[in-house]
Amino acid sequence: MSGNERKVAVVTGAARGIGLACAQRLSAAGYAVALADQPGPALEQAVQALRAQGRQALALAGDVSDHGAVQAQGQYVLAQWGHVDALVNNAGISQPKTLLEISEAEWDRTIAVNLKGYFNWCKALAPAMLARRSGRIVNISSVSANTGAAPSAVSKFAYCSAKAGVLGMTRGLAKELAPAVAVNAICPGSIRTDLTEQLIQSRQDDIVRTIPLGRIGTPMDVAVVVEFLVTVEPNYMTGEVIDVDGGQWVN
Ligand code: NAD
Repeated sequence: MSGNERKVAVVTGAARGIGLACAQRLSAAGYAVALADQPGPALEQAVQALRAQGRQALALAGDVSDHGAVQAQGQYVLAQWGHVDALVNNAGISQPKTLLEISEAEWDRTIAVNLKGYFNWCKALAPAMLARRSGRIVNISSVSANTGAAPSAVSKFAYCSAKAGVLGMTRGLAKELAPAVAVNAICPGSIRTDLTEQLIQSRQDDIVRTIPLGRIGTPMDVAVVVEFLVTVEPNYMTGEVIDVDGGQWVN
């Protein structure tokens, strides 16, 4: 690998929220960034905004739960830019239903996006990372993986199950893909995004009281830690899980 070679990152769920902040941050750090998200104006605008700043960016429109489509998108990025240095698995959906309310289809969809989507992208890009003997994968999980959803949280047990699965995947792949590829996870706490806006608006003071750092998190609070895991040199971390939650779940 030459020192001047372009760095490349793929970020899923990058049209808004935490994923968008990750794409912006890695782009500002000099990465060419492929933004994967559902088709629509938000994805196009995110890509155009980066290009308008003279950065290299491309849109990968599709559903992360579609295995075949994700493999094709991975091949497309590799064909465009030659290699991928970093994968940020972030695309996720909330699941507010309890066990007594949820249908089989809703359970399947929660797992398909929040867990299988991460598998799909690891499967698409890890072979090229291994062949190049270099790569970083960062998986966005949630504090709910460790704590179960708080009574006030939007999501319930199915989301927690998928997010706990992401931690198992992170630790399993950290061992399987070592030493070439480092695989770490981040567990955000209460971060203000479209996913959580309604809940935060209705319970902001209650939520802030549970956070030692005294404020709701921002997408950039997570993105700076993603950037650290993607770029830190020398790197001596893999299979690690970092809480980015303002101390909310300190126990
Ligand atoms: P968000 O809803 O603002 O953004 C999620 C993005 O993922 C959206 O752009 C959406 O279109 C995309 N997406 C959803 N399903 C997709 C699919 N099937 N295929 C492709 N793209 C898809 O949410 P956010 O708050 O930015 O969350 C990002 C990640 O962080 C999620 O994995 C979420 O579970 C996790 N997280 C968020 C919080 C929080 O407080 N916001 C806390 C813990 C964990």
